[in-house]
Amino acid sequence: MTSHSSLPRTTFYSSTAPGSSMNADHTIEITSPDSGKSAKKRKTSGNAKDDGVKPAWSRLRKAKRPGYLARLTDTPLDILLEIFSKLQPGDLLNLARSSKALRRIVLNRTLAGGVWRSAFVNVSDPRAPMPPCPEDLSLVRYANLVYDRYCFECGSTEKLEVCWPEYTRLCPECFNNNFIEVKFQQDNTVDQDLSRLVYHRFRSVGGKLRGPLCFKRAHESLQQRLTLLEPDREAYNAYVKDETRRALVRSNLSNEIRSWGGRTRKLKKADGVEKRRAVQDAYKTKLVELGYQREVDRLSSRELRSLPGFKGVKPLDEKRE
Ligand SMILES: [Zn+2]
Repeated sequence: MTSHSSLPRTTFYSSTAPGSSMNADHTIEITSPDSGKSAKKRKTSGNAKDDGVKPAWSRLRKAKRPGYLARLTDTPLDILLEIFSKLQPGDLLNLARSSKALRRIVLNRTLAGGVWRSAFVNVSDPRAPMPPCPEDLSLVRYANLVYDRYCFECGSTEKLEVCWPEYTRLCPECFNNNFIEVKFQQDNTVDQDLSRLVYHRFRSVGGKLRGPLCFKRAHESLQQRLTLLEPDREAYNAYVKDETRRALVRSNLSNEIRSWGGRTRKLKKADGVEKRRAVQDAYKTKLVELGYQREVDRLSSRELRSLPGFKGVKPLDEKRE
């Protein structure tokens, strides 16, 4: 908190009721939720259905009220950033999507850089440390690649594939649109280096092997740069050396993330089993305390599992007990 204490108490979002201007021209007036007044119906002429005008209730339902998240941005910025620093990367991504005002804060590199760093600390499990974010990748994009479930090109959620060497996630259609088939000429220096540096893969399409397939933008950019530098051997070699290192980092990251994902899933599963077992033991102990020893001994495992809350992972609290 102290690190942000000098920041101004900025309000990023007005709390006026959305839709109020729209209602000025309509027969229904929706007052601001803050005023506490109910919606007031004005006189209407004729049959609303026959006139093609939507009935009053339908407009009432559509009138939006600011949600709790919209009001969140009325909170002083330093407190807001302190709250956000307790979240995990996936939560921050969801926040950024929830409103324009929150998006402006969460994606502001200067304001929220510390928040994103904290988010990765919050999510890290010492038993399976997450691979560090590479230098040429922002924390937001890193979080997006690891935790999000949308195609980077079209926003689709279908059959996605993360392409770590290109730091992108694509649906099959966008993959086809963005990956092009290339031919590396073996007697061409630029092509020889391109074949080592640019990420490429082969893919079976309709039983036929296609490839090498390269990410179009990356291939074009690298090809242009190498062609430009080719006359200057020293600059060309230095560039190839840098790009080789960069390609290696990206390739290693792909493997590291896959391995980290596997370890994390195993740990999560083991934790779930352990928590479930603890709940079941506590459940049985409680039943015995309440005088149901005979029933506990008599019930089969399947019958015990059918008891409400027996299969849960949440510890028994006072309410459930
Ligand atoms: Zn797509």
